[in-house]
Amino acid sequence: MKKRILITGGAGFIGSHLCKRLLDQENEVICLDNFFTGRKENIIGLLGNPYFEIIRHDVCLPNFLEVDQIYNLACPASPVSYQRDPVQTVKVSVMGVINMVGMAKRLGIPILQASTSEIYGDPITHPQSESYWGNVNCNGPRSCYDEGKRCAETLLCDYHRQHNVQIRIARIFNTYGPHMDMGDGRVVSNFIVQALKGEDITIYGTGEQTRSFCYVDDTVDALIRLMNSDAPEATTPVNVGNPSERTMRELAEYVVEVTESDSTIIFMERPEDDPNQRCPDIEKAHRLLKWKPNTTFEVGIEKSIAYFRGQLNRR
Ligand code: NAD
Ligand code: UDP
Repeated sequence: MKKRILITGGAGFIGSHLCKRLLDQENEVICLDNFFTGRKENIIGLLGNPYFEIIRHDVCLPNFLEVDQIYNLACPASPVSYQRDPVQTVKVSVMGVINMVGMAKRLGIPILQASTSEIYGDPITHPQSESYWGNVNCNGPRSCYDEGKRCAETLLCDYHRQHNVQIRIARIFNTYGPHMDMGDGRVVSNFIVQALKGEDITIYGTGEQTRSFCYVDDTVDALIRLMNSDAPEATTPVNVGNPSERTMRELAEYVVEVTESDSTIIFMERPEDDPNQRCPDIEKAHRLLKWKPNTTFEVGIEKSIAYFRGQLNRR
């Protein structure tokens, strides 16, 4: 049955793919975004669809819509963009979430919160499963995001316990692919764009830190499955990510190789509180949602390179 679905942050990287997928599944989609990091270009291809609507609005301000489901993605996600205005990052994670979960409560509808692997901080256990409480600095440069997202989880869980709101919490691990903003400083976009331009590839630190990269189509698939799961356990947090883990040095070397770039790899100062290792345990997502990532790293990187090449050519 056609649903009317609200996606906050719908003009961003993941949100724009989610808008498209839900429209392809014959839903009505309302994209609510203040374009802090989102781009019209990401959703321009959807504008001709009569079931797609855009609202320019800040989730920190109340708003009243009538919808059947809410995906709450509004929040800058790259360390560069969430540290640009850290107070706003906390506000969007707390006031924005209160507004959205309040809407879900008023309407009696489910809300999915885009949480993050950052709630595990610089993890001491490896891989990270949902039962791990994390190792987070509450007053460093990443805290606005990490603690903001932790508080968002708290809010959702309390609205569930106190008001019986149907909540979904997806702890998303590093996602990559087309529509990433090439200027927002994330590692996959940085390395590919640097390699395509023949610029130095900037590894922060020694490059021995690890991340586990999930292609955006797989992430979107998991979010939709989680939203629509009826299992009682679906109201508790679920990791969404690809457990194939690699070092930043391996990533840099691979990107240089497949782009056949002349770029030189250089080593720069490591950002404060940069987590050393990150890898999701996705047993719960697999069991609950019958989900696992399908896109190999090689294919995902190839599609991302094609996207960034197109972006650079257009400029
Ligand atoms: P993004 O920055 O591309 O998208 C975020 C979107 O939210 C943008 O369109 C931005 O304009 C919008 N936004 C920000 N503040 C807003 C506000 N106050 N009101 C309305 N809209 C606002 O980031 P993304 O990578 O697409 O991430 C989407 C969500 O997923 C975020 O909540 C992020 O924390 C979460 N997440 C992403 C990743 C990842 O690897 N991409 C990992 C973990 C969690
Ligand atoms: N990184 C890097 N060079 C860059 C950008 C990032 O070495 O040009 C590193 C960064 O220090 C971190 C990892 O890549 O260890 C992932 O960074 P990103 O900002 O993509 O996401 P994070 O997982 O830290 O939020």
